[in-house]
Order: sequence, then structure tokens, then C-alpha cells
Amino acid sequence: MYRIGIDLGGTNIAVGILNQEMKIVHRASIPTDLPQKPETLADRIAELVFQMLKETEIPAEAVISAGIGIPGTVNPHNGMVEYANNLDFIQVPFSKILGRFFPFPLYGVNDAKAAAWGEYVAGAGKGSSSMMMVTLGTGIGGAMIINGKIVDGFNFAAGEIGHMVIEHNGRLCNCGRRGCFEVYASATALVEEAERAALACRDSLLYKVQNGASEKINGKVFFDAVRKGDETAASVLEWFTGYLSVGICNLVNIFQPEILCIGGGISSAGEILFAPLREKVYPLVYSRDSEINTKIAGAKLGNDAGIIGAAGLESLNYFM
Ligand SMILES: [Zn+2]
Repeated sequence: MYRIGIDLGGTNIAVGILNQEMKIVHRASIPTDLPQKPETLADRIAELVFQMLKETEIPAEAVISAGIGIPGTVNPHNGMVEYANNLDFIQVPFSKILGRFFPFPLYGVNDAKAAAWGEYVAGAGKGSSSMMMVTLGTGIGGAMIINGKIVDGFNFAAGEIGHMVIEHNGRLCNCGRRGCFEVYASATALVEEAERAALACRDSLLYKVQNGASEKINGKVFFDAVRKGDETAASVLEWFTGYLSVGICNLVNIFQPEILCIGGGISSAGEILFAPLREKVYPLVYSRDSEINTKIAGAKLGNDAGIIGAAGLESLNYFM
């Protein structure tokens, strides 16, 4: 028996067919090509799914369920997309529109929550009672899972941890507030700070990279510079982990998750990022004197988390 996971992104739609062990046995993707009408988008996704089933000679009867992660606020009980900025959807019953194509049930949830669910069932949070996912990307996404349930909020909009203010009257965020977590601790914030520091420090490795014209500063280039001992890069990392630790510390104090899982492209930097972060967080969390404390760990599934989590939505007990 198989499950299907669909990760609907603003740029690409990635689909995976998973076996009973929740391993992806076949995958494919197509460009999202926005803007698109919901009906056209659903039609194209269904076509891709059926084409994949045909290629793998898996009959639709062998599919237990499918799930889709959608970049927006989604009511998982009826599949209504309340609001999705990227897709330009307001009150679109997208899971229902797409579900009509399939002879198996389709579940839909917010994409960050789908990725967190993937890490919870098959990645860094596997076997834990509670897990907080913090994804460092263009912004900061997040989701909290307690005892096998995603914390949704009464209107399914819970989990916007990127817009938790960590500096009163700080830098302006595109949400309208000042000093939001993601303005200081997202991957975008790291790269922007590194670019500023490079310009101010012309003998730094970061400046040489930036002005060699071969590459722009990105997460990989930045952490390479830290590894090579560049002092400017090291000071930017100190600044970044300072702000990141404030947000993480707040989240640990509020939720006390067993695992705090950090995802997003820059999390692949590993210990060079996590070690200074733990050093800043652990002495300050309210529970520091407890015998057991939250484990801060990197995400394990990378870009597959969204597909795996979507495929596993059936086990969340959301009913359609
Ligand atoms: Zn904000």
C-alpha cells in the first residue's frame, strides 16, 4: 500500500509516492507557474499524480491516502484555504477541488505544518512527545506539535513564530510590526547582515567573495568563510546567533518541547551554527536547572519533509 505527498510551493509542485515505511519510492515535480486559477492548478497536480501512478504501475486502489501542504492558512477539517498570499487564494476550498480527482481521501494543511509533521513522524522528532519546528528561510516558519497534535489555533493561523517581536521598535518587518524575529534571524537576515559587514570590512573574505563577482553571499558561502576563520564572518555569526537565541529561548520557555528542530537551507551548516546557538540558549532558559531540557537539533529530512509530512497527514486524525 502507498501514500502520496504533495508539496505545493510558490515556485514548484513536488510530489512523492511513499511506501508503507514512509520512504519516497518515486518523485516528480513541475513548475507552479503562478498566477493560476485554483481549478487549473488542481487539474495539473492531478495529472502529475496519475502520470506517476502509471509510470510506477501502482493502481489507484493501492493508495491509502494523499496529502497536500499549501503555503497559506488552511482549515484542515474542510480543506478550505482561508488565505494564501503567494497563490492569491482567499477562501478557496482547494483540498475539495483537488480531492474530486482522486478515488482516495486527500488531506490538506499549511505547508510549514506539513514539513513539521514530516520531521515529527519520520525525522528529528521521531519518537518524541512534543516537537517545535523552526524553519529559517526567507522568513521564519514554525509549527508546534504536542502529543501527536499540531497546534493550529482556533482559526488555524497559529505558529507564526517569525512575527514574534524580539526587539521593541526594531527594524521594520513586512507584516507591519517592528523588531520581528524573522527580520533578525531568518536566512535572509543573515545574508543581508553578511553583505553589510562585507562592505564595511574590505579586507574580509566575505568582501572578496562579494566583489569577486563569481558568487553572491549565500548561506553556504557565509559558513565556508566562518570555517576558514574569517573574523568578519565570525562576528556576523555571533550577531545572528544572538538574535536567534532570543527567539529560541522564548519558544522553549513557552512550549518546553522535547525536541526543537531547526530546518531550512542554512540548517545544513550543522554544528558550526548549532554549537554557538546552544551555548547562548541553555544558560538562559527558565528550565536551565531541570534535569532534562529541550534538545536543539537540526532537521533531518531537508526538502523532503513537506512531501513526507503531507503523505502522513492521515495519521493526524483531521477529518474531511
Ligand atoms: Zn513581522
